[in-house]
Amino acid sequence: MTETSLSQPPDRGETRRGLHYPLGRWHPEPGDLHEVASGVFWLRMPMPFSLDHINLWILDGGDHWTLVDTAIPASSCKDVWRGVLAKLLAEKPVGRLISTHYHPDHLGLAGWLCRKTGAEFVMTRTEYLTARMLLGDRREEPPEAAMRFSEKAGYSRAQLDKMREDGWGRFASAISPLPDEYTRIADGDVLTIGARRWRVVVGSGHTPEHACLVDDAGTLMIAGDQVLPRITSNVSVHQTEPMANPLGDWLDSIERLRALPNDLLVLPAHGFPFHGLHERLSQLDADHRHKLDMLRRYLADRPRTAMQTFEILFGRQIDDREMGMAVGEAMAHLRWLEDAGLASRTVKRGAADLWQA
Ligand SMILES: [Zn+2]
Repeated sequence: MTETSLSQPPDRGETRRGLHYPLGRWHPEPGDLHEVASGVFWLRMPMPFSLDHINLWILDGGDHWTLVDTAIPASSCKDVWRGVLAKLLAEKPVGRLISTHYHPDHLGLAGWLCRKTGAEFVMTRTEYLTARMLLGDRREEPPEAAMRFSEKAGYSRAQLDKMREDGWGRFASAISPLPDEYTRIADGDVLTIGARRWRVVVGSGHTPEHACLVDDAGTLMIAGDQVLPRITSNVSVHQTEPMANPLGDWLDSIERLRALPNDLLVLPAHGFPFHGLHERLSQLDADHRHKLDMLRRYLADRPRTAMQTFEILFGRQIDDREMGMAVGEAMAHLRWLEDAGLASRTVKRGAADLWQA
């Protein structure tokens, strides 16, 4: 790519907790593209949240560009994209857009970008259908199933009233209208993009059918939220499937990902590119198993509600904005223990479930 201004990293790397960051804690400026490997460009998009950025990847497809993930439909993100597209399109068309999973920071601008560029939209089927399902679920008040789910987790009367007041269907305001058609990818598929062949490796637990891309030469992994270097991806039980065991899926996925080479350069959706996939997978696995262990001892003491386990799982106060995620995460750990036969619950109509080891 000739006409694009490329940010240049300083010549250094650093190592932390067994992970190696080849570029240190350097990242390209917003709107600049940095070529992390031949034909693979890093666009770091600022976002107006406490998670203040997302890493997007632009792949040189020879006669076209392939984009991986999009950021949210904020005007600041669209502005960055407009500048980047002007540079990209000066050279060749954007032919394809892949979203790794359905979360708004990965999918939020898919419709907008595809309409602007004519790109083919590519996703796994479960992720696409989940997005369509959430987009279609708009109503004044939360469904009874959602109210019951929160009540059983330990919401107070006031919290339940607030939930009713807040309404339902926020997903629709967090993403621009989806493309009405898509091309399905599935685990094991191979996409030829320019000089590289990328294998689709599906993980589960953070979302149901999250696509990672691993290049055939075994040197690069576009990891989305499936493997992050510093923060832990949220693993939640949701009200649509209260008996799901996403933490089981997540731990199984960690095992599956161990089959990948350890010396891949991992390109995560948040944080910095790193080497040390197996070390990171071991850390993630150990972290969850440690929490399960603490939770089990806590529940052996006396029965607790899901929300009472926050002090053990998170060790801090959870504010209202984090409440949904925290309940989902607590439920994921409790459901794992339940499926493993290590915890059980007492159900009482109109009250929170009580969990005991
Ligand atoms: Zn995500």
